[in-house]
Amino acid sequence: MGHEFSGEIVEIGKAVTNNWKLRERVCAMPHIGCAKCSNCRAGRPHRCDKALNRATPGNPGAYSEFVRIGAQETFRLPASVTFQEGALVEPLAVGLHAVKRAKITAGDNVLIVGGGPVGLSVAVWCKFFWSATYYCKRFDRGPGRTGG
Ligand SMILES: [Zn+2]
Ligand SMILES: [Zn+2]
Repeated sequence: MGHEFSGEIVEIGKAVTNNWKLRERVCAMPHIGCAKCSNCRAGRPHRCDKALNRATPGNPGAYSEFVRIGAQETFRLPASVTFQEGALVEPLAVGLHAVKRAKITAGDNVLIVGGGPVGLSVAVWCKFFWSATYYCKRFDRGPGRTGG
C-alpha cells in the first residue's frame, strides 16, 4: 500500500547516471520501469512489460520508511512545494490525464464517478480550467477497498 508519496533521497544506486543528489526533495511514480525496452526509452515506463509496481514483492509501498524509486520515474520538488503537496503530484497527474482524454470543454457538465483522490483530482482540474460544473458520486466499495 502507498504509492502517492514524496521524500528525500538518502541513497543513490551505482547504476544511476542522472544528476540526482543526496537530500534532494522528490516525488516518484508508482512503478519502476526496466529502462531498456522501447516504452521505457520513449519515456513511458508505465507501459513497460517488466515494470515493478509499488507495493509488490521487492518494491515496498510508501507506508514504509524507505522506498526504492526509479531514477527515470522521479521528479524534483521545488522548494515551495511541501512534502504533503508533493504526495499529490501522482493523483493530480492521473486526474489531468483523464480530463485531457475526456476532451472536456468550457460549459460542459461533468459527472465524476468516484470521490477518491483521482476523482477529486479530476474535479480540481475541471474547476481550474473551465470552472466546470461537476457532480461527484462516491460509491461504497465495501470494507477493505480504497482508492479513487
Ligand atoms: Zn521497460
Ligand atoms: Zn495514485
